[in-house]
Amino acid sequence: MNHQDKKPHILFLFSDTGGGHRSAAEAIIEAMHLEFGDRFMPEMVDIFKDYAPPPLKKMPELYPKLVRIPRVWELGYNISDGKPQVKVLAKSAWPYVRGSFNRIINEHPSDSIISVHPLANAPMLNALGDNHPPFITVVTDLVSTHAAWYDKRVDLCLVPTRTAREHAIKYGLKPDQIKVFGLPVANRFCQPKGDSKQLRHQLGWPQDRMTVILVGGGEGMGPLEKIAHTIATAQLPLTLVIIAGRNNKLKERLETLKTHWRIPTFIYGFVHNMPDFMRAADVLVTKAGPGTISEALNTGLPIIMVSYLPGQETGNISYVISKGAGVWAPHPDQVVQTLRNWIEQPEQYAQTVAACQRAARPDAARKIAHIIADTVKA
Ligand code: UDP
Repeated sequence: MNHQDKKPHILFLFSDTGGGHRSAAEAIIEAMHLEFGDRFMPEMVDIFKDYAPPPLKKMPELYPKLVRIPRVWELGYNISDGKPQVKVLAKSAWPYVRGSFNRIINEHPSDSIISVHPLANAPMLNALGDNHPPFITVVTDLVSTHAAWYDKRVDLCLVPTRTAREHAIKYGLKPDQIKVFGLPVANRFCQPKGDSKQLRHQLGWPQDRMTVILVGGGEGMGPLEKIAHTIATAQLPLTLVIIAGRNNKLKERLETLKTHWRIPTFIYGFVHNMPDFMRAADVLVTKAGPGTISEALNTGLPIIMVSYLPGQETGNISYVISKGAGVWAPHPDQVVQTLRNWIEQPEQYAQTVAACQRAARPDAARKIAHIIADTVKA
Protein backbone atom coordinates (compact mmCIF):
# COMPACT_ATOMS: atom_id res chain seq x y z
CA MET A 1 0.00 0.00 0.00
CA ASN A 2 1.17 3.50 -0.78
CA HIS A 3 1.77 5.46 2.42
CA GLN A 4 3.41 8.53 0.97
CA ASP A 5 0.35 10.64 1.70
CA LYS A 6 -0.94 11.32 5.20
CA LYS A 7 -4.60 10.83 4.36
CA PRO A 8 -6.49 8.70 6.86
CA HIS A 9 -6.98 5.20 5.49
CA ILE A 10 -10.47 3.77 5.80
CA LEU A 11 -10.73 0.03 5.30
CA PHE A 12 -14.06 -1.45 4.14
CA LEU A 13 -14.52 -5.18 4.76
CA PHE A 14 -17.07 -6.70 2.40
CA SER A 15 -17.62 -9.65 0.10
CA ASP A 16 -19.41 -10.22 -3.19
CA THR A 17 -21.76 -12.74 -1.62
CA GLY A 18 -24.75 -11.23 -3.37
CA GLY A 19 -24.52 -7.64 -4.54
CA GLY A 20 -25.67 -5.73 -1.45
CA HIS A 21 -22.47 -5.61 0.60
CA ARG A 22 -20.44 -4.12 -2.24
CA SER A 23 -23.20 -1.61 -3.08
CA ALA A 24 -23.35 -0.40 0.54
CA ALA A 25 -19.56 0.03 0.79
CA GLU A 26 -19.40 1.84 -2.53
CA ALA A 27 -22.29 4.13 -1.53
CA ILE A 28 -20.48 5.15 1.68
CA ILE A 29 -17.20 5.71 -0.18
CA GLU A 30 -19.04 7.84 -2.73
CA ALA A 31 -20.65 9.85 0.09
CA MET A 32 -17.22 10.39 1.68
CA HIS A 33 -15.95 11.81 -1.61
CA LEU A 34 -19.03 14.02 -1.96
CA GLU A 35 -18.78 15.34 1.60
CA PHE A 36 -15.01 15.54 2.06
CA GLY A 37 -13.42 15.49 -1.39
CA ASP A 38 -10.21 13.42 -1.32
CA ARG A 39 -9.47 13.91 2.39
CA PHE A 40 -9.70 10.16 3.04
CA MET A 41 -8.19 7.12 1.39
CA PRO A 42 -10.82 4.38 1.28
CA GLU A 43 -9.97 0.78 0.40
CA MET A 44 -12.25 -2.20 -0.10
CA VAL A 45 -11.17 -5.74 0.80
CA ASP A 46 -13.19 -8.82 -0.07
CA ILE A 47 -12.67 -10.87 3.10
CA PHE A 48 -13.21 -14.13 1.23
CA LYS A 49 -11.93 -13.67 -2.30
CA ASP A 50 -8.89 -11.54 -1.45
CA TYR A 51 -7.73 -13.24 1.74
CA ALA A 52 -9.50 -16.41 2.95
CA PRO A 53 -7.95 -19.87 2.58
CA PRO A 54 -9.68 -22.31 0.22
CA PRO A 55 -12.50 -23.23 -0.02
CA LEU A 56 -13.72 -20.03 1.73
CA LYS A 57 -11.83 -18.06 -0.89
CA LYS A 58 -14.41 -19.21 -3.39
CA MET A 59 -17.32 -17.99 -1.25
CA PRO A 60 -18.52 -15.33 -3.75
CA GLU A 61 -18.76 -18.07 -6.41
CA LEU A 62 -20.20 -20.64 -4.00
CA TYR A 63 -22.82 -18.33 -2.51
CA PRO A 64 -25.36 -18.58 -5.37
CA LYS A 65 -25.05 -22.38 -5.13
CA LEU A 66 -25.40 -22.38 -1.33
CA VAL A 67 -28.66 -20.42 -1.49
CA ARG A 68 -30.05 -22.46 -4.38
CA ILE A 69 -32.04 -24.64 -1.98
CA PRO A 70 -33.56 -21.88 0.15
CA ARG A 71 -34.93 -24.21 2.85
CA VAL A 72 -31.48 -25.65 3.51
CA TRP A 73 -30.00 -22.14 3.65
CA GLU A 74 -32.76 -21.10 6.05
CA LEU A 75 -32.05 -24.06 8.31
CA GLY A 76 -28.36 -23.15 8.50
CA TYR A 77 -29.25 -19.51 9.03
CA ASN A 78 -31.67 -20.25 11.88
CA ILE A 79 -29.43 -22.78 13.58
CA SER A 80 -26.53 -20.32 13.64
CA ASP A 81 -28.61 -17.25 14.57
CA GLY A 82 -27.85 -16.71 18.25
CA LYS A 83 -25.13 -15.26 20.41
CA PRO A 84 -23.79 -18.60 21.75
CA GLN A 85 -23.83 -20.15 18.26
CA VAL A 86 -21.95 -17.20 16.76
CA LYS A 87 -19.37 -17.48 19.55
CA VAL A 88 -18.84 -21.20 18.96
CA LEU A 89 -18.62 -20.73 15.18
CA ALA A 90 -16.17 -17.84 15.47
CA LYS A 91 -14.04 -19.87 17.91
CA SER A 92 -13.94 -22.94 15.72
CA ALA A 93 -13.19 -20.95 12.56
CA TRP A 94 -10.49 -18.88 14.26
CA PRO A 95 -7.46 -21.22 13.81
CA TYR A 96 -8.41 -21.50 10.17
CA VAL A 97 -8.93 -17.79 9.37
CA ARG A 98 -6.51 -16.17 11.83
CA GLY A 99 -3.69 -15.91 9.25
CA SER A 100 -5.98 -14.26 6.70
CA PHE A 101 -7.21 -11.57 9.07
CA ASN A 102 -3.70 -10.92 10.38
CA ARG A 103 -2.59 -10.43 6.79
CA ILE A 104 -5.42 -7.96 6.16
CA ILE A 105 -4.25 -5.95 9.17
CA ASN A 106 -0.60 -6.01 8.09
CA GLU A 107 -1.27 -5.18 4.47
CA HIS A 108 -3.95 -2.55 5.13
CA PRO A 109 -2.98 -0.49 8.19
CA SER A 110 -6.04 1.68 8.71
CA ASP A 111 -7.27 4.62 10.72
CA SER A 112 -10.80 3.29 10.76
CA ILE A 113 -12.34 -0.06 9.82
CA ILE A 114 -15.86 -0.41 8.45
CA SER A 115 -17.45 -3.84 8.22
CA VAL A 116 -20.41 -4.24 5.89
CA HIS A 117 -20.40 -8.05 6.14
CA PRO A 118 -21.64 -10.03 9.16
CA LEU A 119 -18.84 -12.59 8.86
CA ALA A 120 -16.10 -9.96 9.04
CA ASN A 121 -16.88 -8.72 12.54
CA ALA A 122 -15.77 -11.37 15.04
CA PRO A 123 -12.61 -12.57 13.23
CA MET A 124 -11.39 -9.05 12.47
CA LEU A 125 -11.96 -7.91 16.05
CA ASN A 126 -10.20 -11.06 17.31
CA ALA A 127 -7.24 -10.35 15.05
CA LEU A 128 -7.08 -6.68 16.05
CA GLY A 129 -7.06 -7.36 19.80
CA ASP A 130 -7.94 -4.72 22.41
CA ASN A 131 -6.06 -1.82 20.92
CA HIS A 132 -7.74 -1.24 17.63
CA PRO A 133 -8.62 1.72 15.43
CA PRO A 134 -12.28 2.73 15.43
CA PHE A 135 -14.33 -0.23 14.18
CA ILE A 136 -17.79 0.41 12.79
CA THR A 137 -20.31 -2.13 11.58
CA VAL A 138 -22.81 -1.02 8.96
CA VAL A 139 -25.62 -3.60 8.97
CA THR A 140 -26.81 -4.22 5.39
CA ASP A 141 -29.84 -6.35 6.18
CA LEU A 142 -33.04 -4.50 6.96
CA VAL A 143 -35.09 -6.40 9.49
CA SER A 144 -34.13 -10.05 9.95
CA THR A 145 -30.60 -9.30 11.05
CA HIS A 146 -28.41 -12.27 12.02
CA ALA A 147 -26.65 -12.34 15.40
CA ALA A 148 -23.27 -12.30 13.62
CA TRP A 149 -23.85 -8.65 12.73
CA TYR A 150 -23.63 -7.65 16.38
CA ASP A 151 -20.34 -7.74 18.23
CA LYS A 152 -20.12 -5.86 21.52
CA ARG A 153 -16.50 -4.87 20.86
CA VAL A 154 -17.40 -2.48 18.02
CA ASP A 155 -17.20 1.26 18.53
CA LEU A 156 -20.40 1.83 16.60
CA CYS A 157 -23.06 -0.24 14.94
CA LEU A 158 -25.05 1.62 12.28
CA VAL A 159 -28.35 -0.05 11.46
CA PRO A 160 -31.01 0.60 8.82
CA THR A 161 -34.21 0.14 10.85
CA ARG A 162 -35.57 0.29 14.41
CA THR A 163 -36.04 -3.49 14.36
CA ALA A 164 -32.36 -3.94 13.55
CA ARG A 165 -31.62 -1.64 16.51
CA GLU A 166 -33.76 -3.79 18.82
CA HIS A 167 -31.77 -6.83 17.71
CA ALA A 168 -28.53 -5.01 18.50
CA ILE A 169 -29.80 -4.32 22.03
CA LYS A 170 -30.93 -7.94 22.38
CA TYR A 171 -27.42 -9.10 21.47
CA GLY A 172 -25.85 -6.93 24.14
CA LEU A 173 -24.85 -3.69 22.43
CA LYS A 174 -25.36 -0.53 24.46
CA PRO A 175 -27.80 2.10 23.14
CA ASP A 176 -25.00 4.61 22.64
CA GLN A 177 -23.16 2.16 20.38
CA ILE A 178 -26.10 2.06 17.93
CA LYS A 179 -27.43 4.57 15.42
CA VAL A 180 -30.33 4.16 13.00
CA PHE A 181 -29.59 5.81 9.65
CA GLY A 182 -31.22 3.68 6.93
CA LEU A 183 -29.33 1.60 4.42
CA PRO A 184 -26.72 3.52 2.39
CA VAL A 185 -27.39 3.66 -1.35
CA ALA A 186 -25.58 5.38 -4.22
CA ASN A 187 -26.18 9.10 -4.47
CA ARG A 188 -27.86 8.91 -7.86
CA PHE A 189 -30.76 6.89 -6.43
CA CYS A 190 -31.43 9.85 -4.14
CA GLN A 191 -31.49 12.62 -6.73
CA PRO A 192 -34.76 14.03 -8.07
CA LYS A 193 -36.00 11.59 -10.69
CA GLY A 194 -35.91 14.09 -13.56
CA ASP A 195 -37.01 13.22 -17.05
CA SER A 196 -37.46 9.45 -17.27
CA LYS A 197 -38.25 9.71 -21.01
CA GLN A 198 -34.83 11.20 -21.66
CA LEU A 199 -33.21 8.35 -19.72
CA ARG A 200 -35.28 5.77 -21.61
CA HIS A 201 -34.15 7.33 -24.85
CA GLN A 202 -30.51 7.01 -23.74
CA LEU A 203 -31.07 3.38 -22.79
CA GLY A 204 -32.80 2.65 -26.11
CA TRP A 205 -36.11 1.78 -24.45
CA PRO A 206 -39.57 2.86 -25.70
CA GLN A 207 -40.61 6.08 -24.01
CA ASP A 208 -44.37 5.96 -23.59
CA ARG A 209 -45.10 2.56 -22.05
CA MET A 210 -45.08 1.53 -18.43
CA THR A 211 -41.57 0.13 -17.94
CA VAL A 212 -41.03 -2.82 -15.63
CA ILE A 213 -37.63 -3.91 -14.35
CA LEU A 214 -37.29 -7.53 -13.28
CA VAL A 215 -34.25 -8.31 -11.12
CA GLY A 216 -33.08 -11.02 -8.69
CA GLY A 217 -30.28 -9.32 -6.78
CA GLY A 218 -26.67 -9.38 -7.91
CA GLU A 219 -26.83 -13.13 -8.63
CA GLY A 220 -30.07 -13.17 -10.67
CA MET A 221 -31.89 -15.33 -8.10
CA GLY A 222 -35.54 -16.37 -7.92
CA PRO A 223 -38.05 -17.58 -10.54
CA LEU A 224 -37.22 -14.83 -13.03
CA GLU A 225 -37.83 -16.88 -16.18
CA LYS A 226 -41.35 -17.91 -15.24
CA ILE A 227 -42.28 -14.41 -14.15
CA ALA A 228 -40.75 -12.84 -17.25
CA HIS A 229 -42.69 -15.20 -19.49
CA THR A 230 -45.99 -14.54 -17.68
CA ILE A 231 -45.51 -10.76 -17.84
CA ALA A 232 -44.40 -10.85 -21.49
CA THR A 233 -47.42 -12.87 -22.60
CA ALA A 234 -50.05 -11.05 -20.51
CA GLN A 235 -50.93 -8.62 -23.30
CA LEU A 236 -50.29 -5.56 -21.18
CA PRO A 237 -48.89 -2.35 -22.70
CA LEU A 238 -45.49 -2.70 -21.06
CA THR A 239 -41.78 -2.60 -21.70
CA LEU A 240 -39.97 -5.40 -19.89
CA VAL A 241 -36.38 -4.93 -18.74
CA ILE A 242 -34.77 -8.03 -17.24
CA ILE A 243 -31.51 -7.87 -15.30
CA ALA A 244 -30.00 -11.32 -14.87
CA GLY A 245 -27.07 -10.06 -12.74
CA ARG A 246 -24.14 -12.48 -12.65
CA ASN A 247 -26.41 -15.39 -13.68
CA ASN A 248 -25.10 -15.88 -17.24
CA LYS A 249 -27.07 -19.08 -17.82
CA LEU A 250 -30.31 -17.31 -16.98
CA LYS A 251 -29.42 -14.53 -19.39
CA GLU A 252 -28.83 -17.04 -22.20
CA ARG A 253 -32.15 -18.82 -21.52
CA LEU A 254 -34.01 -15.51 -21.48
CA GLU A 255 -32.48 -14.49 -24.82
CA THR A 256 -33.97 -17.65 -26.34
CA LEU A 257 -37.37 -17.19 -24.67
CA LYS A 258 -37.50 -13.57 -25.77
CA THR A 259 -37.92 -14.58 -29.42
CA HIS A 260 -41.47 -15.75 -28.53
CA TRP A 261 -42.51 -12.53 -26.83
CA ARG A 262 -44.41 -9.69 -28.43
CA ILE A 263 -43.64 -6.83 -26.05
CA PRO A 264 -40.46 -4.75 -26.13
CA THR A 265 -38.00 -6.69 -23.98
CA PHE A 266 -34.44 -5.81 -22.98
CA ILE A 267 -32.18 -8.34 -21.30
CA TYR A 268 -28.98 -7.48 -19.45
CA GLY A 269 -26.38 -9.28 -17.38
CA PHE A 270 -24.84 -7.45 -14.41
CA VAL A 271 -25.42 -3.74 -14.96
CA HIS A 272 -23.30 -0.98 -13.45
CA ASN A 273 -25.82 1.80 -13.93
CA MET A 274 -28.69 0.57 -11.77
CA PRO A 275 -29.61 4.16 -10.76
CA ASP A 276 -30.34 4.98 -14.43
CA PHE A 277 -32.34 1.78 -14.80
CA MET A 278 -34.47 2.46 -11.73
CA ARG A 279 -34.94 6.14 -12.53
CA ALA A 280 -36.06 5.26 -16.06
CA ALA A 281 -38.54 2.61 -14.88
CA ASP A 282 -42.06 2.71 -13.41
CA VAL A 283 -42.20 -0.58 -11.50
CA LEU A 284 -39.67 -2.95 -9.96
CA VAL A 285 -40.33 -6.70 -9.81
CA THR A 286 -37.70 -8.22 -7.55
CA LYS A 287 -36.36 -10.60 -4.97
CA ALA A 288 -36.75 -8.89 -1.59
CA GLY A 289 -33.07 -7.96 -1.34
CA PRO A 290 -32.34 -5.15 1.12
CA GLY A 291 -30.12 -3.16 -1.23
CA THR A 292 -32.56 -3.32 -4.13
CA ILE A 293 -35.52 -2.44 -1.89
CA SER A 294 -33.73 0.57 -0.41
CA GLU A 295 -32.66 1.79 -3.84
CA ALA A 296 -36.24 1.51 -5.12
CA LEU A 297 -37.61 3.40 -2.10
CA ASN A 298 -35.15 6.22 -2.74
CA THR A 299 -36.05 6.28 -6.45
CA GLY A 300 -39.80 6.28 -5.73
CA LEU A 301 -40.19 2.99 -7.59
CA PRO A 302 -43.11 0.76 -6.49
CA ILE A 303 -41.96 -2.76 -5.62
CA ILE A 304 -43.52 -6.11 -6.50
CA MET A 305 -41.67 -8.71 -4.45
CA VAL A 306 -41.68 -12.16 -5.99
CA SER A 307 -39.19 -14.10 -3.87
CA TYR A 308 -36.94 -13.75 -0.86
CA LEU A 309 -34.03 -15.56 0.66
CA PRO A 310 -35.42 -17.19 3.83
CA GLY A 311 -33.32 -16.05 6.75
CA GLN A 312 -31.88 -12.60 6.22
CA GLU A 313 -34.63 -11.45 3.84
CA THR A 314 -37.66 -12.91 5.63
CA GLY A 315 -38.70 -9.67 7.34
CA ASN A 316 -38.27 -7.56 4.22
CA ILE A 317 -41.64 -8.55 2.79
CA SER A 318 -43.68 -7.22 5.70
CA TYR A 319 -41.33 -4.22 5.96
CA VAL A 320 -42.14 -3.07 2.40
CA ILE A 321 -45.84 -3.85 2.78
CA SER A 322 -46.03 -1.96 6.09
CA LYS A 323 -44.61 1.10 4.35
CA GLY A 324 -47.23 0.82 1.57
CA ALA A 325 -44.34 0.75 -0.89
CA GLY A 326 -45.16 -2.49 -2.65
CA VAL A 327 -46.81 -5.90 -2.63
CA TRP A 328 -45.88 -9.55 -2.15
CA ALA A 329 -46.77 -11.48 -5.30
CA PRO A 330 -45.06 -14.88 -5.26
CA HIS A 331 -47.20 -16.21 -8.10
CA PRO A 332 -46.57 -14.82 -11.61
CA ASP A 333 -50.34 -14.26 -12.08
CA GLN A 334 -50.33 -12.01 -9.00
CA VAL A 335 -47.53 -9.97 -10.57
CA VAL A 336 -49.58 -9.49 -13.72
CA GLN A 337 -52.69 -8.61 -11.69
CA THR A 338 -50.76 -5.96 -9.75
CA LEU A 339 -49.36 -4.48 -12.96
CA ARG A 340 -52.87 -4.42 -14.44
CA ASN A 341 -54.22 -2.67 -11.32
CA TRP A 342 -51.49 -0.04 -11.47
CA ILE A 343 -52.11 0.59 -15.19
CA GLU A 344 -55.88 0.81 -14.74
CA GLN A 345 -55.83 2.74 -11.45
CA PRO A 346 -53.13 5.39 -11.76
CA GLU A 347 -54.13 6.95 -8.43
CA GLN A 348 -53.31 3.66 -6.66
CA TYR A 349 -49.97 3.59 -8.46
CA ALA A 350 -49.29 7.24 -7.50
CA GLN A 351 -50.06 6.46 -3.82
CA THR A 352 -47.48 3.68 -3.90
CA VAL A 353 -44.88 6.00 -5.43
CA ALA A 354 -45.56 8.50 -2.64
CA ALA A 355 -45.26 5.76 -0.01
CA CYS A 356 -41.85 4.78 -1.41
CA GLN A 357 -40.68 8.37 -1.17
CA ARG A 358 -41.89 8.61 2.45
CA ALA A 359 -39.99 5.46 3.40
CA ALA A 360 -36.76 6.54 1.68
CA ARG A 361 -33.65 7.45 3.71
CA PRO A 362 -31.68 9.43 1.11
CA ASP A 363 -29.25 10.86 3.67
CA ALA A 364 -28.10 7.49 5.09
CA ALA A 365 -24.81 7.27 3.18
CA ARG A 366 -23.84 10.87 3.94
CA LYS A 367 -24.66 10.51 7.64
CA ILE A 368 -22.53 7.39 7.80
CA ALA A 369 -19.72 9.23 5.96
CA HIS A 370 -19.79 11.93 8.66
CA ILE A 371 -19.74 9.38 11.46
CA ILE A 372 -16.67 7.74 9.92
CA ALA A 373 -14.95 11.10 9.49
CA ASP A 374 -15.69 11.97 13.14
CA THR A 375 -14.20 8.72 14.45
CA VAL A 376 -11.01 9.38 12.52
CA LYS A 377 -10.78 12.93 13.87
CA ALA A 378 -11.51 11.93 17.45
N1 UDP B 1 -27.02 -4.84 -8.69
C1 UDP B 1 -26.28 -4.18 -9.66
N2 UDP B 1 -26.31 -4.68 -10.92
C2 UDP B 1 -27.00 -5.79 -11.26
C3 UDP B 1 -27.77 -6.46 -10.26
C4 UDP B 1 -27.75 -5.95 -8.98
O1 UDP B 1 -25.62 -3.18 -9.40
O2 UDP B 1 -26.97 -6.17 -12.42
C5 UDP B 1 -26.97 -4.30 -7.32
C6 UDP B 1 -28.30 -3.72 -6.86
O3 UDP B 1 -28.47 -2.41 -7.37
C7 UDP B 1 -28.13 -3.81 -5.35
C8 UDP B 1 -27.31 -5.08 -5.18
O4 UDP B 1 -26.70 -5.36 -6.43
O5 UDP B 1 -27.37 -2.71 -4.88
C9 UDP B 1 -28.18 -6.25 -4.78
O6 UDP B 1 -28.33 -6.18 -3.40
P1 UDP B 1 -29.51 -6.85 -2.61
O7 UDP B 1 -29.26 -6.58 -1.17
O8 UDP B 1 -30.81 -6.40 -3.15
O9 UDP B 1 -29.42 -8.39 -2.96
P2 UDP B 1 -28.20 -9.45 -2.94
O10 UDP B 1 -27.63 -9.48 -4.32
O11 UDP B 1 -27.19 -8.95 -1.92
O12 UDP B 1 -28.83 -10.74 -2.58
